[in-house]
Amino acid sequence: MKGLCILGATGSIGVSTLDVAARHNHLYKVVALTANNNIDLLFEQCLIHHPEIVVVVDETKAQLFSNKLQQTSISDIKVLSGTKSLEVVATLDNVDSVMAAIVGAAGLLPSLAAAKAGKTILLANKEALVMSGSIFMQAVAESGAQLLPIDSEHNAIFQCMPAGYQSGMQAKQARRILLTASGGPFREMPLEKLVDVTPAQAVAHPNWDMGRKISVDSATMMNKGLEMIEACILFAMTPDQIQVVIHPQSVIHSMVDYVDGTVLAQMGNPDMRIPIAYSMAWPDRFDSGVEPLNIFDVRRMDFQEADLERFPCLRLAYQAINSGGIMPTVLNAANEIAVEAFLNEQVRFTDIPVIIERSMEKFVVKPASTLEIILEADHQARIAAKEIIVELAH
Ligand code: NAD
Ligand code: MG
Repeated sequence: MKGLCILGATGSIGVSTLDVAARHNHLYKVVALTANNNIDLLFEQCLIHHPEIVVVVDETKAQLFSNKLQQTSISDIKVLSGTKSLEVVATLDNVDSVMAAIVGAAGLLPSLAAAKAGKTILLANKEALVMSGSIFMQAVAESGAQLLPIDSEHNAIFQCMPAGYQSGMQAKQARRILLTASGGPFREMPLEKLVDVTPAQAVAHPNWDMGRKISVDSATMMNKGLEMIEACILFAMTPDQIQVVIHPQSVIHSMVDYVDGTVLAQMGNPDMRIPIAYSMAWPDRFDSGVEPLNIFDVRRMDFQEADLERFPCLRLAYQAINSGGIMPTVLNAANEIAVEAFLNEQVRFTDIPVIIERSMEKFVVKPASTLEIILEADHQARIAAKEIIVELAH
């Protein structure tokens, strides 16, 4: 029996993880769940999965939650609050696997704590890896933690890697990664119409049902930019070895091109329970609850190059990783602020790349050699992005 901690249990990935865990409750025991503030959903989850301990980051909500538990059959669940508590539950002795599914930079410290504690990390939180790159991978290597990618593309690539492959290794026989992208909801929208895109339109993804932030990232294709950087870090490849391929049907979840001309692809229905189940069963496989792929329904698969004029965020991501050092951290932080401002209707859809690019221009590249440097760059980039948002409003 393995102990499971889900960081971000109330999100889209968290919910799918609990669905998979419930199918295999003889293999996985849910030990800890965390939520930022959605205590209604967390309560439902506690009734079903009965964890030992939960974290509600928001202190007032945590108190409300604790009171709510008192009159119930699950009053023995321990309730913690505050961001430090996320690190506490991610490193508990009886936790073997940590699903890192908090969105954004907020997930970095607990994910890193799990890495340092040598846990098996199921990594959905790509922003944490993008902002901390080599430091994260070093923590994994030093503690002997196991790092399994949950992002569907990276999970696909991992599955297409040679036998015995571990995250961070260089697979010399693999010469290229073909990173697939659906192209999001605006793949074919006339360019001049992008300026009027609303948050509701941007979060309505054609193929995947996801949280709001990653849905906007998919619409700008910053998601693919972050994933390109994520792939460089996880698979020890250079940016020019990662080819982004628009594949609107989302049947192939990515491919690995080998030196002998072989291309291996992983396919399946677009449902995150597949990569989640793969990582939870690894190195075995078990049922994910996902319907078998009906290849006759697929009928055709299309592939196109990504248009960098339509998707400037993708260009900025290549620029950030090629510059190196703190630039991916700056890119990520500025993007988080820009997306939040867009969702709050403070800026337009087409302002997102402008905010990121102008933020990046305010920084000189320096090595991201310590956690302190990374956290400072993240902090400063947020300030820079907020200033640019104010300028844009005038
Ligand atoms: P979501 O918005 O649905 O859920 C986010 C979760 O993080 C929630 O449980 C929320 O309570 C928690 N959270 C948010 N802010 C927090 C904070 N400041 N402190 C602590 N907890 C906080 O997001 P999601 O779609 O589940 O995505 C989660 C992560 O997985 C993201 O990094 C995303 O890029 C990645 N991912 C998601 C998908 C998908 O299909 N949803 C696919 C690939 C990768
Ligand atoms: Mg993905």
